[in-house]
Amino acid sequence: MKTALIVGSGLGGLTTAIRLSTVGYKVTIVEKQPQAGGRLNQLKKDGFTWDFGPTFFSMSYEFDEFAKTCGIELPFKFYPLDPLYTVNFSGSNRKFVIHKDIEKLAAEFADLEPDFAKRMEEYLKKTGKLFHDTENRIIRKNFDSLLHFAATLATVPMGHAPKMLRSMWSELNKYFTSYEAKVIFSLVAFFLGATPFDTPAVYSMLTYTELVHDGYHNVEGGMYKIVEGLLEVTKQRNIEIVYNIEIVGTQESGNEIVAVTDSAGKQWKADLFVINSDAASFRGKILKRKAFTEKKLDAMKWTLAPFTMYLGVKGKIEGLEVHNYFLGRNFEEYSSKIFKNSISLEKPYYYVNVPSRANAGHAPEGCEALFILCPVPDLRYKPDWSDSEELARYIISDLSERVGFNIEANLQSKTIINPLHWQSMFNLWRGSGLGLAHDINQIGYFRPHNTDEKFKNLFYVGSSTIPGTGLPMAVISSRLTTDQIVKRYGTVR
Ligand SMILES: Cc1cc2nc3c(=O)[nH]c(=O)nc-3n(C[C@H](O)[C@H](O)[C@H](O)COP(=O)(O)OP(=O)(O)OC[C@H]3O[C@@H](n4cnc5c(N)ncnc54)[C@H](O)[C@@H]3O)c2cc1C
Repeated sequence: MKTALIVGSGLGGLTTAIRLSTVGYKVTIVEKQPQAGGRLNQLKKDGFTWDFGPTFFSMSYEFDEFAKTCGIELPFKFYPLDPLYTVNFSGSNRKFVIHKDIEKLAAEFADLEPDFAKRMEEYLKKTGKLFHDTENRIIRKNFDSLLHFAATLATVPMGHAPKMLRSMWSELNKYFTSYEAKVIFSLVAFFLGATPFDTPAVYSMLTYTELVHDGYHNVEGGMYKIVEGLLEVTKQRNIEIVYNIEIVGTQESGNEIVAVTDSAGKQWKADLFVINSDAASFRGKILKRKAFTEKKLDAMKWTLAPFTMYLGVKGKIEGLEVHNYFLGRNFEEYSSKIFKNSISLEKPYYYVNVPSRANAGHAPEGCEALFILCPVPDLRYKPDWSDSEELARYIISDLSERVGFNIEANLQSKTIINPLHWQSMFNLWRGSGLGLAHDINQIGYFRPHNTDEKFKNLFYVGSSTIPGTGLPMAVISSRLTTDQIVKRYGTVR
């Protein structure tokens, strides 16, 4: 039987482990943290439960495909969100409710964009075509050579080419006139960890995925049920997971890795290795590759870092739904500063999730669990986080004012996780929350490959390899990586 060792138990690592066991490999996972899931994690404290990072997902059919391929029942239940989320702009009590139904959505913008339904339908028609023209050609594919990538790109209808060159913001400007509509439908850029001003317009197809194609989904009992369910499957498949093991080196022989070494000096041997640690920084920090030196990694484009808060509050907050965005009125200026400047984080934009609204057990009776995510510059631009408490205080007081509830006075639990924590917990480069950004020169063949440049038995899965970031992408990534392994080593039966 062939053995595979997977470094990391994020969604990419867990789904690769189950896929490989399906084709007969004996799999072991080593994980730095005491708990599985990576960024898809959970915090339990003071009687409250919070999803640690992801709070919803798109492209749910990728999970179904995974279960079908592995011959299992999907070990968790998900349900579609509708409305998807709400948006509030500072200085106003108005709350935009983002419905999937275009007529209902148009009613939200009736006074701002009289032709909203017509414009949106046109926008969705164009972005939908783009999505369907690229999903199977580009997003769900391995590229073994630049020629293969170029030849595949050439099959995408030429009409989409200008969208590679202009920004998502300029695309939105062609369809909508109001500040509110443009800002709201450009928020998807932040899911890629970028701003709409530097995200190519091709990604406007994400608006089609959120409103039309498959929408967003939540998981019954909270997002961590995904991990708990997958862990059940790993148990049934005799996949061993060893926690509190950090891999810091490799043992090589010719063009193969024979073992990886942990921080206590122990060697972990296997026939092949899959790295779920960040695919770019592992090549630099552990393999010491010239193309991934610290300087070169820093010159790459990384997604924003998360500043997250997990609050337990006494009382119910009526002004909040499950998914809420709180934005300002200086979007362009904010977007231009947020990535690069070590700005004092006054008037931040943030997202609030209320897990206790969706899952009764996530807060004690009469209380609310709040998860707040504020995108901030990564550690290249803001290395000092001694002002974490100050930023937390600002956000809490701003949110209190906007929802008309004194959160500070009713706090029962507070945990702050800043980019330094995110970096050290999961080995995220400079604390970047979603890994490498998705610029044209960092996608497809240009993204760190899922096969290694030198060692034939070394593979990668997860956010910074293909196809990209987010939960469905991690599931696709595990399929692409497993395909590469099977192509090279076959199935084991
Ligand atoms: C705050 C936040 C919010 C998000 N929200 C969403 C959302 O709503 N929807 C969505 O789809 N996506 C969201 N994402 C993105 C999503 O979480 C990630 O794309 C996905 O979880 C990444 O999975 P992964 O398998 O690539 O890696 P990870 O989750 O990073 O897993 C990698 C694992 O490897 C371990 N590891 C690293 N180095 C080593 C080593 N040397 N030795 C041993 N173990 C190691 C880490 O501890 C970790 O457990 C969010 C991310 C963040 C940070």
